[in-house]
Amino acid sequence: MTSGRTRLSSGLLALAWIFTSGPIHAAERNIDDKAINDTANTAEWLAYGHTHDEQRFSPLNDINAENIGKLGVDWYLDLPGDVGLVSTPLVVDGVMYFTGTMNVIRAVDARTGKLIWEYDPEVYKVLEGQQQVMWKDSRGISTYGDKIFSATWDGRLVALDRKTGKLIWETRTFPLGSGLHINGHPKAFKGKVLIGNGGTEVSPNRAYVTAYDAETGKQAWRFHIVPGNPADGFESPAQEMAAKTWTGEWWKLGGGGNVWHGLTYDEEFETVYIGTGNGSPWNRKFRSPEGGDNLFLCSIVALDADTGEYKWHYQTTPGESWDFNSTMDMVLADITIDNKPIKALLHAPKNGFFYVINRETGKLVSAEPFADVNWATHVDLKTGRPVEREGSRYEDGSELVYPTPWGSHSWHAMSYNPNTGLVYLPTQNLQSVFDDTTVPKDWKLEKYSLGTGVGFTMEKIPNRSWGTLQAWDPVKKKAAWKVDQDFPWGSGTLTTAGNLVFQGEPTGLFKAYDAKTGSLVWKYDAGLGISAPAITYKLDGKQMISLLVGFGGGWSSNLTGVADKYGWSYGAQTRRLITFSLDGKAKVPEQPGAAFAQPIIDKDFKVDDAQADAGAAVYGGKTCVLCHGAGAVAAAMAPDLRASPALLDKDGFTSIVRDGAHLKRGMPAFPKLTDDELNALRHYIRREARKAVHTD
Ligand code: CA
Repeated sequence: MTSGRTRLSSGLLALAWIFTSGPIHAAERNIDDKAINDTANTAEWLAYGHTHDEQRFSPLNDINAENIGKLGVDWYLDLPGDVGLVSTPLVVDGVMYFTGTMNVIRAVDARTGKLIWEYDPEVYKVLEGQQQVMWKDSRGISTYGDKIFSATWDGRLVALDRKTGKLIWETRTFPLGSGLHINGHPKAFKGKVLIGNGGTEVSPNRAYVTAYDAETGKQAWRFHIVPGNPADGFESPAQEMAAKTWTGEWWKLGGGGNVWHGLTYDEEFETVYIGTGNGSPWNRKFRSPEGGDNLFLCSIVALDADTGEYKWHYQTTPGESWDFNSTMDMVLADITIDNKPIKALLHAPKNGFFYVINRETGKLVSAEPFADVNWATHVDLKTGRPVEREGSRYEDGSELVYPTPWGSHSWHAMSYNPNTGLVYLPTQNLQSVFDDTTVPKDWKLEKYSLGTGVGFTMEKIPNRSWGTLQAWDPVKKKAAWKVDQDFPWGSGTLTTAGNLVFQGEPTGLFKAYDAKTGSLVWKYDAGLGISAPAITYKLDGKQMISLLVGFGGGWSSNLTGVADKYGWSYGAQTRRLITFSLDGKAKVPEQPGAAFAQPIIDKDFKVDDAQADAGAAVYGGKTCVLCHGAGAVAAAMAPDLRASPALLDKDGFTSIVRDGAHLKRGMPAFPKLTDDELNALRHYIRREARKAVHTD
């Protein structure tokens, strides 16, 4: 199956932005691991984390803490059809490549922002009835050889000719209809491309990562995160070892462990590290009723880069029960502790501990909390295991736990500055109450339903800032400085030899801090929440800083706390790619400001409370809530259903929700919804619309 379309900017096609008028000399460069690992290459940004070490550090210092006051917009590109923008662009030989909404990839002149080519994988064509969870955002792409690699929401890995944007090969990384999805970046290394997938909470599945040959797309190897049914035999001794840490009939619920993000390649040891996800379901008593560590959930697993063979693992959260993924980025750094040089792997997963691991041996060096943690009192360095607080495993009870399923740190990349020795880490300060007392004993997760096997709430920790940017010292095991922020979900960071740290905020402010002290040295108001990390490169003697602006990811689905103050809404503010330089003088059109949904009251519609209650269950259970927000209050990710005129009409409602009339915009079709369920949903949405008006 091949789907996808490349548009070269010939000027023949009517697109919403300005085309380049003449030919631009796109890359002929053959990218290999040496090129990706060349930390002195300041003209390019060749990998998701800049270099294979994932440090997001640039030796550029033209822009520095002294002259940053002169930083201004050099060029910008409006992206009017885009929604959430969370990705890290790449720069190769003067051309910038980035992925936008619905996995559309664009190549633009990195000096001017003019479009060179655009590739649309036409995800909507394979959506129908197959992908009932919307993850339109994508965190990035990779380059290797003469190609660009991207993974699509529906599970394809595509290889494009970097010069023309033409499809070279594509391969399906999971079967359509399996309930999986991809919003992560593929990792290209040593002639291969590695990709995982997500979907732990919306389908019973057994996760894996797969490496493909970069030239041909042929599968090279696959590693499963959790063991399958022992009766079917094990794929490797590692799976057999993992099976000893599970109990009951875990394979019936899939087990989970999805690697939806963290992939790091270590050229020195020819190893790939994968950060694995949480259990399916969260509640261990359902998936492994007699307990057990449940390998390789919530772990860092080191694999041979050529064969995918298991080398070592370190499990951050044994017997995971709180959605404490270890899929967060893994940064490689050479650090010195007690006069001993250590080849370190730095990792700050959701569970709130900052881990320093010796990546030569897989041995834990240190693990200290970087945020409020109460699920464990500490990590025992002798055993390498967390010491759990009694009761934090809420089984058959209700328990206040922090951190939460949003994590103390999520996918927003941290950066490491070798000059300061500090890690710049976006942190969230939240607490949850987990309660499984109302979950039926025979609970099961169904495909395309949202399920965790435990009820939970999430809120800000009292007397804490909601978000924090901190400079974590991995040697001293404490923060060198912290900046309290009014909101969580700050973007990933970029740090430079100009003694700077850059971070975007959900508030729409793009800020630069003094890397040593944390003092704010510059800010720019983008007029829309920022979720993507910035990159930097130098062309024609000019250092540039580029950033995608488009509030995205999980938090952008809901108005809780952020968008209800700022009014970041679907379709209201223009999504953009903005590039800054010293003395940049481009004038960016003003954003419209806050845009709040205006719920429509349909006076002729008689809301039936029982129907509306049934609709609430469909809304929450069939994944509507993931994009359209809790209580049908939406934010930047998808339209607010209470305010949609198209939904007032019964036939219009059915054509969109069941028949997929808006597939092109990323609204999946739900062909299995019955007339009764559709009707119940309508009652629920109309009731929520009325509530909003009555309580205003
Ligand atoms: Ca999860």
